[in-house]
Amino acid sequence: MTGPWPHKPYTFRALQKTFGPMWVRCDICRRYATLRLTGLLDVDYRTKRFSCSRCGSEAWVCVVEPVKEHGMQDYRLDEIEHPERHPAAIDRLTGRRPNRHFDHSGGELPGRKIDGRR
Ligand SMILES: [Zn+2]
Repeated sequence: MTGPWPHKPYTFRALQKTFGPMWVRCDICRRYATLRLTGLLDVDYRTKRFSCSRCGSEAWVCVVEPVKEHGMQDYRLDEIEHPERHPAAIDRLTGRRPNRHFDHSGGELPGRKIDGRR
């Protein structure tokens, strides 16, 4: 017998229960880091954006370690102890300067496309 799913949907906690460890990756630098969920567990992952602390471009949550994905073997694990948001990312996230010229194909979280907020 299965009880009801005990986790709020669309939280990182639910995501973690489903997928286990996750990573965030930057397709520009081709680097990734372990996704640390401290303080994020009850956050709706659809509202959370990550950015690369090295180049400031958008970073993507992935549920498979990038080096284990086909064609991504050159990504390198690059953990930063206390990553800080890149100034370009702050500008983008706060909408001060539109910066949409990066091509982000693939790597989207499940459910992002059926997000009905717009
Ligand atoms: Zn980067």
